[in-house]
Amino acid sequence: MSADLWGRVCDELRFAIGQDAFKNWIDPLEFRGCEDGVARLAAPTPFIGNWVSQHYGERIQKIISKSGTNVVRLDFTVCPAKTVTAKPVHSGFSEPKVEFVPQAQPMAKPSAAVQTADLDLPGSPLDAKYKFDNFVVGKPNELAHAAARRVAEPGPVTFNPLFLYGGVGLGKTHLMHAIAWQIQETRPDARVLYLSAEQFMYRFVQALRFKDMHGFKQLFRSVDVLMVDDVQFIGGKDSTQEEFFHTFNALVDQNRQIVITSDRPPNEIQGIEDRIISRLQSGLVVDVHPTDYELRLGILQSKAEAQARLHPGIDVDHGVFEYLAMRISSNVRVLEGALTRLFAFASLVGRKIDMDMSQECLSDILRASERKVTIDEIIRKVAEHYNVRMADLLGPRRARSVSRPRQVAMFLSKSLTTKSLPEIGRRFGGRDHTTVIHAVRKVEELRVIDAQISDDVELLRRMLEA
Ligand code: ADP
Ligand code: MG
Repeated sequence: MSADLWGRVCDELRFAIGQDAFKNWIDPLEFRGCEDGVARLAAPTPFIGNWVSQHYGERIQKIISKSGTNVVRLDFTVCPAKTVTAKPVHSGFSEPKVEFVPQAQPMAKPSAAVQTADLDLPGSPLDAKYKFDNFVVGKPNELAHAAARRVAEPGPVTFNPLFLYGGVGLGKTHLMHAIAWQIQETRPDARVLYLSAEQFMYRFVQALRFKDMHGFKQLFRSVDVLMVDDVQFIGGKDSTQEEFFHTFNALVDQNRQIVITSDRPPNEIQGIEDRIISRLQSGLVVDVHPTDYELRLGILQSKAEAQARLHPGIDVDHGVFEYLAMRISSNVRVLEGALTRLFAFASLVGRKIDMDMSQECLSDILRASERKVTIDEIIRKVAEHYNVRMADLLGPRRARSVSRPRQVAMFLSKSLTTKSLPEIGRRFGGRDHTTVIHAVRKVEELRVIDAQISDDVELLRRMLEA
């Protein structure tokens, strides 16, 4: 029964937070049952427990309660049994004892607009961290960001709907909340409703059950701005999408702004009617691209500032962020999680954040995003990319036209594989490991000052990862 319950919680969570975050945070947990309003969970490390408690605590609580077992609090214990990282957290230290303070989502403050409206809007709370101020803009998300900014500005509705789509953890929800915050600030009377498609469906089903479709319609048609997150969820849910369609049309007719996100473009949402697809496409459809190295580095630096305020006095060695930005390319949420864990760990054990500590503390995350790229593949791709012969990359020629690609290939071998420096040297025509070190440093330097090299490296990395 309790395994059943947890299974259902997991299904909902996986959907709500995405596969990656789920794997990183929820999968390692062990559910120990509910009693007297307390759900007991075991986490493999204090960091994971803390993180889950802070970020997903409220959600887990709600899902369990929704399934009929009332839960007011989560209780985490540390139990390394189900850990994916077989090693202890850090060999040099005994496992720090941490008391968990189960938190009911401290950062998510309900939006004032949602609260003060005369009709009670059934929206989700807005996360105070998700504002334009702390959204880092880079090439992959600049269009989405600009469109979101535009929608948040006062004035006539320019594109309706704004449809943002892209993979998990790329900032779509962040942008939506940012729009809501900004509108709320500049137009306090505007009725802004933000909710997930899942909640939309839930409301709809409730209205059907309690025979209050009139109330439902009135509510949803009375907002100035409607934002529906993760709309792919309504695919296949026929009566929900029908109702969504009517709501959508009614609002567009009244010139009310609609913002929608999805993990894929409108025409790829499974089980959704053509007329709805064409409605979704009728405004501006913007793709949030996967992050690139620069954006990840920017995000790390910006989030590290916030972490440094929480944990003052922690030093970060040069090169750590660069390493993480290179190695963790899956999604921003994972990147953030890694950073939080590093700072938490550093402050617990009173150490600075250096390369060794990062590798140890993040071994599970790093392993999860490990690429099975081989040096041979790297050599082949680099040769192709620079149009040089593979034999030249491995041979003795020192002309810039081959030595630079060779350095890039060595750099990629170091970053994308777990091979040691001497091993890499051997594979590049029996070179010394100091040559490899030199190459790695050189490329690191060049990437900062030479956009061409930086683009080359990023492109090659992507091709190799694909
Ligand atoms: P999505 O809705 O696309 O799955 P989220 O908006 O939930 O992604 O973003 C996941 C996490 O990554 C959030 O904590 C968010 O603040 C952060 N994030 C994503 N992109 C950025 C960015 N460009 N700048 C700052 N934080 C970001
Ligand atoms: Mg989202």
